[in-house]
Formats: sequence, C-alpha cells, structure tokens
Amino acid sequence: MSDCLFCRIVSGEIPAEIVADNPAAVCFRDISPTAPTHVLVIPRTHLPNLAAVGEAEPDTLVAMLALADQVAEAEGIAGDAEGQGYRLVANTGPNAHQTVFHAHLHVLGGRPMGWPPG
Ligand code: 5GP
Ligand code: ZN
Repeated sequence: MSDCLFCRIVSGEIPAEIVADNPAAVCFRDISPTAPTHVLVIPRTHLPNLAAVGEAEPDTLVAMLALADQVAEAEGIAGDAEGQGYRLVANTGPNAHQTVFHAHLHVLGGRPMGWPPG
C-alpha cells in the first residue's frame, strides 16, 4: 500500500534503522522510543493488525515472534535474570492507542516496567 508508512519502510522508500529481518518480517527502531530497547516488528505484507496477520498468514505471526525474540537476545534483554525481560505490545484499535494501521509488535525492554500499563 503506497500510502502506508510501514509499507514504505518495508520497501525502503522511507528510511528506518533496520535491526534485523527475515523473509516474512522486518524489525526497526521506533522513532520515538519509550525504553532503552524499543523496536517494532512488522509483517512485510500489509495487514491492519496482529489478529489479521494470524488469520491471513499464521506463519508470518510465528516469524514475527521469532524475530522479536532474536532481537531481544541480540539486545541482551531476553532471559529471566535480574535486569532482563522484555514486553511485547500489540495495540489494536484506537482505544488501545494504535496509530499506525499496519500490524506491528512493540518490543520493549532495558528498564523495569509497571503493571497495569497506562
Ligand atoms: P502504535 O501507537 O500504532 O501502537 O505504534 C506506532 C509506533 O510507530 C509509535 O511508537 C511511533 O513512535 C512509531 N512510528 C511512527 N512513525 C514512525 C516512523 O516514521 N519511523 C519509525 N521508525 N517509527 C515510527
Ligand atoms: Zn502497510
């Protein structure tokens, strides 16, 4: 979709700091990070949210989760030791603060996080 911001990042039309990718998904740093590690994992295919990925391309959903964990490992935030751990967030719909309607997982880590989320 030519008018979709994240499709334009996938195509290279809009620059982003790509961290890792695989045949189905791309991971890049969020332009406005809210944690020391804040990257986005998106499908190469334009789908509006994570549920739509699961319906249309279940293998892509698995590839997104694998890429998220690969990047968390590389960033040193995977694992269960003190100071480690990461959060996956998939805002879905306006009430949940989805602002870009191309599916994405936020991978957040590198600081302690509260619960419940805001
Ligand atoms: P949402 O609010 O939809 O869950 O998350 C969208 C995310 O995309 C936000 O965290 C926002 O900072 C990020 N974002 C918006 N525009 C850009 C951009 O042009 N480049 C990058 N790298 N991230 C962006
Ligand atoms: Zn798109």
